[in-house]
Amino acid sequence: MKKHNFNAGPSVLPRIAIENSAKAILDLNGTGLSLLEISHRSKDFQAILDEATALFNELLNIPAGYKILFLGGGASLQFDMVPYNLLNKKAAYLETGVWAQKAIKEAKFFGDVNVVASSADKNFTYIPKGYIIPSDVDYFHITTNNTIYGSEIRYDMDSPVPLVADMSSDILSRPVDVSKYVLIYGGAQKNLGPAGVTFIIIKEDILGKVERKIPTLLNYATHLKEPSLYNTPPVFAIFTCLETLRWIKSLGGVKAVEEMNIRKAKLLYDAIDNSRIFTGTVAPDSRSLMNICFVMKEQYKDKEEAFMEAAKKKGMIGIKGHRSVGGFRASTYNALPYESVQALVDCMNEFEKENA
Ligand SMILES: *Cc1c(COP(=O)(O)O)cnc(C)c1O
Repeated sequence: MKKHNFNAGPSVLPRIAIENSAKAILDLNGTGLSLLEISHRSKDFQAILDEATALFNELLNIPAGYKILFLGGGASLQFDMVPYNLLNKKAAYLETGVWAQKAIKEAKFFGDVNVVASSADKNFTYIPKGYIIPSDVDYFHITTNNTIYGSEIRYDMDSPVPLVADMSSDILSRPVDVSKYVLIYGGAQKNLGPAGVTFIIIKEDILGKVERKIPTLLNYATHLKEPSLYNTPPVFAIFTCLETLRWIKSLGGVKAVEEMNIRKAKLLYDAIDNSRIFTGTVAPDSRSLMNICFVMKEQYKDKEEAFMEAAKKKGMIGIKGHRSVGGFRASTYNALPYESVQALVDCMNEFEKENA
């Protein structure tokens, strides 16, 4: 039976990226060597790195003065590297979920943290509005997509101080005005590639402003000198990212991908909004296009288990909500086909007919 992969991360990837990665593991471009056994300093890998960098630049229209890095450590290591390199005295953070809270926790090791607004009061079901970004901080940090709760900041805000964004779960899902940010980072395993690689888009002139000494590997300057090659990068994971980037380009770029994402999300949100038994958990103006969270209405709560079973039988994978939210979460990343969302909606409608 066909599986519909709604996993939150690691998650669905373009089929072509998986097939080409499998081929490259057996034989990279007719070299007679596996992708897994080439040197990261070889010409073959340099070509992979160069093309991935060029495509990233092209697809996000990244202005001059920025560099792209592919490093290890996950987005979680960036929770430390960002303040290590950028927080001199004080930074501001927007608290929109557990990942934001983890970023805040790490920043506190390096200086004062001003949490300018939080949606913790309503279990992160909305994006705070009307807050003022202070001008006496070294940077302002946001999490653009809250993977667990299904809320998203889908615009590029003006900030009086350098803006830093964790875009782990919505990178390349829409065009981004990179010039509004000094640093964008994320783990690849939500919307770009397999686990094991972290992308960082960094404006070069933001470095060198903190007084502390920074250990070599945690210093962005080290990685800028020899982009992604100071030590051995995750070669395989970078290759699959390249394949995903090629796929996005073949579809017509991030604008085309965004239109697909809007169509998919609309299909599912409409089904939720028109349902007698399901209801959304996130404020309509804060809803994510990437992670769609919903629960059963109070009087049907005891049917959640039964729906999970029914959905499983139809090939739905990974729709159980995060334990801190409950209910259901369908992750509708770039590579999730429209047909999978349609299959889920059909399943919901059928269940409703039989149970309400
Ligand atoms: C998954 C996720 C992380 C954590 O990523 P790791 O690569 O596992 O460290 C951080 N931020 C967001 C928004 C995420 O979705």
